Amino acid sequence: MIESKSLNRPTINNQSCAVCGKQNLMHHFEGLIKCNNCGFIWADVSLSSEDLKNIYGKNYFFGDEYIDYLSEEAILKIGFRKIKNQLLRLFPTNKKMPDLLEIGSAYGFFLDVAKQDFNVAGVEISSDAVEYSRKKGYEIFHGELSEFDLHEKYDIAVSFATLEHLVSPDEIVKQAFSCLKPNGFFYITTIDIGSLFARFRGKKWRMIHPPTHVSYFSSSTLQSLMKRNGFKVVECKPIWQYRSLDVLLLPKFANSLFYRLVNFLGLTRVPIPFNFGDIIGLLVQKPI
Ligand SMILES: [Zn+2]
Repeated sequence: MIESKSLNRPTINNQSCAVCGKQNLMHHFEGLIKCNNCGFIWADVSLSSEDLKNIYGKNYFFGDEYIDYLSEEAILKIGFRKIKNQLLRLFPTNKKMPDLLEIGSAYGFFLDVAKQDFNVAGVEISSDAVEYSRKKGYEIFHGELSEFDLHEKYDIAVSFATLEHLVSPDEIVKQAFSCLKPNGFFYITTIDIGSLFARFRGKKWRMIHPPTHVSYFSSSTLQSLMKRNGFKVVECKPIWQYRSLDVLLLPKFANSLFYRLVNFLGLTRVPIPFNFGDIIGLLVQKPI
């Protein structure tokens, strides 16, 4: 993990808001900047491609952001399956399978649940994750979306928990717009700093941790970004997440009697649904 203090910090005066383009900015909590015009919040860091390689190497999925991403496969797929079923309803059943691109496809867990109903492909920067997914037979573009010519190739693009990691989130929205066919859909999930829970927690909100989380959208700023880049908003709402007790308890209670009891009873792999209202799913559509 890179400490944010070791990163270059551009001065606030040289920055402009990724959502509205204005330069009317103020400091917000320690290390965060807020746009006075639209309310978008981001981390006051700049990340080189070398920094990104260090952050999103294998340790990101095994130790830094996740304890052991692969061991969470069955539980993460519960949430993915629900989202896939919702997205499937957007398409008529009597036509050919829609073409789907996952931006930030990680180890291919969403592709695994979507492949029966969609022609799937992914874009991913982690070499280890690309290799793992390609072994399962998926078409994975290794690198950033901007490196590939995918103009109007897809009926739907999806991206889970990715936008908050991007220093220039507007770029991925522009690129997603370009890779969609007219009438195509874009579905994303991200953290919501405007939610009641995030506002209640303030600077202690668990999602504030630059440099991995750098863009902090609210439902309002996220919808503004989409509209500014040509999309029409279809739906925006908080989503349910599923995690094991292992993941929820291990970081803080690994040595506690309670954790050992739960482990002894074999309950650590039980999926726990939770919804603090601070993770949102947004569906937008590219007009004809
Ligand atoms: Zn703004």
